[in-house]
Amino acid sequence: MLQKTSHYMRQANLIGGEWVDADSGATLDVTNPANGQTIGTVPKSGTAETRRAIEAAEKAFQSWKKTSANERSKLLRRLHDLILENQDPLAELLTMEQGKSLAEAKGEVAISAAYILWFAEEGRRTYGDVVPSPWADRRLLVTKEPVGVVAAITPWNFPSSMLARKIGPALAAGCTAVVKPASQTPYSGLAWGALCEEAGFPKGVINIVTGSASEIGDELCSNPLVRKITFTGSTEIGKMLIEKSASTVKKVSMELGGNAPFVVFDDADIDRAVEGAMVAKYRNSGQTCVCTNRFFVQAGVYDTFVEKLAAASRKLKVGAGLDDGTQQGPLIDVKAVEKVEELIADATAKGGTVVTGGKRHDLGGSFFEPTVISGATTAMRVMKEEIFGPVAPVFRFETEDEAVAMANDTEFGLACYFYSGDLGRAFRVTEALKYGMVGVNEGLITTVEVPFGGVKESGLGREGGHQGIDDYLDTKYVCIGGL
Ligand code: ADP
Repeated sequence: MLQKTSHYMRQANLIGGEWVDADSGATLDVTNPANGQTIGTVPKSGTAETRRAIEAAEKAFQSWKKTSANERSKLLRRLHDLILENQDPLAELLTMEQGKSLAEAKGEVAISAAYILWFAEEGRRTYGDVVPSPWADRRLLVTKEPVGVVAAITPWNFPSSMLARKIGPALAAGCTAVVKPASQTPYSGLAWGALCEEAGFPKGVINIVTGSASEIGDELCSNPLVRKITFTGSTEIGKMLIEKSASTVKKVSMELGGNAPFVVFDDADIDRAVEGAMVAKYRNSGQTCVCTNRFFVQAGVYDTFVEKLAAASRKLKVGAGLDDGTQQGPLIDVKAVEKVEELIADATAKGGTVVTGGKRHDLGGSFFEPTVISGATTAMRVMKEEIFGPVAPVFRFETEDEAVAMANDTEFGLACYFYSGDLGRAFRVTEALKYGMVGVNEGLITTVEVPFGGVKESGLGREGGHQGIDDYLDTKYVCIGGL
C-alpha cells in the first residue's frame, strides 16, 4: 500500500502538465498531526508560479471548452473509477497529513469519487431554453457556456472532497482550473493532479500550486483571466477574497464558517438524538463547518440528554488515524488545541460545568478529549465562535420560540439540526430556522445529490445537487432575427 501511496504523493506543482518546483526552490514542510513528524515537503510558490498556472489553464481552456459534454463525462467517469480503485492509498495519504481516522478518510475518498460521478452525469444536462418569441420574425435561445478559468482554494479539514465538489463541476462544465490546497494538507490536493493525468485529461486542464496563501490568493483574485473563485474556508478569508475579486468582477462561490445549532425538544426520541449528536459533533474531531457548535435542549429532557451524550462521548476511541479502531484522531495542530482550551476556560469561568473530557488527551500532541459542558449560556464565547474541536456545550431552553431565537442568533447560517416527534413542529421550526441546510431527526445530511451551502455569512452558491454546476456556467441569450 505504501508504494501506491507514494505514487500519489506528489511534492511538486502541476503547471501546464509539468510537475515543477517553486522558482526559488523553496519548500514548505508537511507534518503528520498524529506524531508531529515531517512527511515531506511541497513547493513554496508565489505570484510568478500562479500566473503561469493561470496562463496554462487559459491556454487549455481554448480547446477544452470545445470538447463535447459526453467526452468530458467519459473522462470524469474514468477519474471516478481511478479514485475508487485507489481508495486505500489515497485514504492513507489523507490520514497521514490530516489526522482523521482511516475509516473516515476512506469515507471521504468515496465521497470524492461520488461527486465526480455525479458531475460526470450532471455535465450532460446543462440545458438551455427556447423562449416563446414576442416577435414573429425572431427566435430566442438561451444557452449555457463554461465561465472559463476557475480558481479553487480549499481547506485542510476535507482536503480531498472539498476539491471534488469544485473540480467535478468545473471540468464537467468545460472550465479549466487552478487549485491551491491548504498548506497543512497539500498532498490530497496534489493527488488530484496525478489522478487527472492518469484519467487522460489534457495538459493544463487542471493546475495545482502550493505555497504562500496570500501571494497565490492575490494573483488568483486580481488576474483577469480567472473568471471564477470558488473557496471553502473561514468567513474572514472568504470576505477578503470577495473584496479582492471585485476589481475584476469574478463570479464567487463561498463555503464559509458555520455555527450549527442542534435543538432537542421534549418530544424527541432521545436515543436517536444522542446518536445524531455524536456524528454531528465529533465527525473529523469536530473540525467540520457543519459540526454542531451549540446544543439547545428543552428543560424536560435536559439532564437525560446531557448524561447520555457524556456517556457516549466517554466511549469514543481517541488515537492515531492509522491505528485500528480509532474513532477520533488528533486536532490539526496545537493552535487548534489552544483555541479549544480557551473556549473551555471561558465557558467554565462563566458558570459552565465540564461533564466529561475538558483537557488534552493522555496521548499528548494535539489529541484532545471529547468534551461535554453543561450549563452553557449565551454569554459564553461558544455561543458566537466556531469551536472546530470536540467540545459540546449544552444550553437549556423552555419554549420553542426561545430555541429558535437562540439558534438564529448568529451571523452564520450553514447547517442546523433539530429533533422532534411532532410533525407540525417539524415544519414550523424548519421554516423558522435561517439556515441553508436543515437536518430533522438526522445528524448527518451531506450527500452529493443535494445542494450544500449556507445563507448569511456562511456563504454564497451551492455545491452538489443539480445546482452545483450552475456557478460554473454563464448564461447566453441569443436572438435570431430576419426569419
Ligand atoms: P482554516 O481556518 O480552515 O484554516 P482558512 O480560511 O484560513 O481556513 O484557510 C482556507 C484556505 O484559504 C487555505 O487553503 C488557506 O491556505 C487559504 N488562505 C489563507 N489565507 C489566504 C489568503 N490571504 N488568500 C488566499 N487564500 C488564503
